[in-house]
Amino acid sequence: MIDDDLSRTATVTQLGAVRDRIAHAARLARRDPADITLIAVSKTQDAAAIRPLLAAGVRDFGENRVREAQAKWPGLIADYPDTRLHLIGQLQSNKAAEAVAIAQAIHSIDRRSLIDAVARAIEASGRQPDCYVQVNIGDEPQKGGCAISDLPALLRVARGAGLTVAGLMCLPPAEVEAAPYLALCAKLARDNGLAGLSMGMSGDLDTAVTLGATHVRVGSALFGARP
Ligand SMILES: *Cc1c(COP(=O)(O)O)cnc(C)c1O
Repeated sequence: MIDDDLSRTATVTQLGAVRDRIAHAARLARRDPADITLIAVSKTQDAAAIRPLLAAGVRDFGENRVREAQAKWPGLIADYPDTRLHLIGQLQSNKAAEAVAIAQAIHSIDRRSLIDAVARAIEASGRQPDCYVQVNIGDEPQKGGCAISDLPALLRVARGAGLTVAGLMCLPPAEVEAAPYLALCAKLARDNGLAGLSMGMSGDLDTAVTLGATHVRVGSALFGARP
């Protein structure tokens, strides 16, 4: 139990450090830190690990899996009804209805079949999550996201299907400098008239904020390394 208390205190300390990083990077870019949403990526973390962040005022959380979100969040949302869940992992079309039912934002829209499934779920539920089109910014075969060359057409399809396209999302290649990929994603958003930019994780959130991120997705810098 003492260990638990310590790790909770650590999470709140790390929250202060992450907020300072965001504020510092925003100042460098002459941006208002209030324009940047911190999404606490709580995948693999249990409710006890999440509660201190809720108590500290965090309301935006990221999950990779619909099933895990369904198992973990209803009880927490009952206590903090203004919580916003962001689905950030690859999404199967057959989970679209459940995703739309639980999430305020879906960051991994990357293909026509998924757009169709999400559009049907929106129509059936009357819910309207913010949708981010994920771009495979490093052209990596193992990653989700649409090819850069497909982006304009996919955006047309998504808008035509009635999705609220809030912006772009990217996950730059690991192990190399992220800045060129983040800058490219920011340019693609600008060129396509999109205000939202979901990019920046524990290792590169500073650069991402400097380059225009509106939503940073931060896991390990808040919770420590994932089990
Ligand atoms: C896990 C994950 C994150 C958070 O990564 P950290 O390096 O732990 O901050 C962000 N985005 C996506 C899509 C993820 O899967």
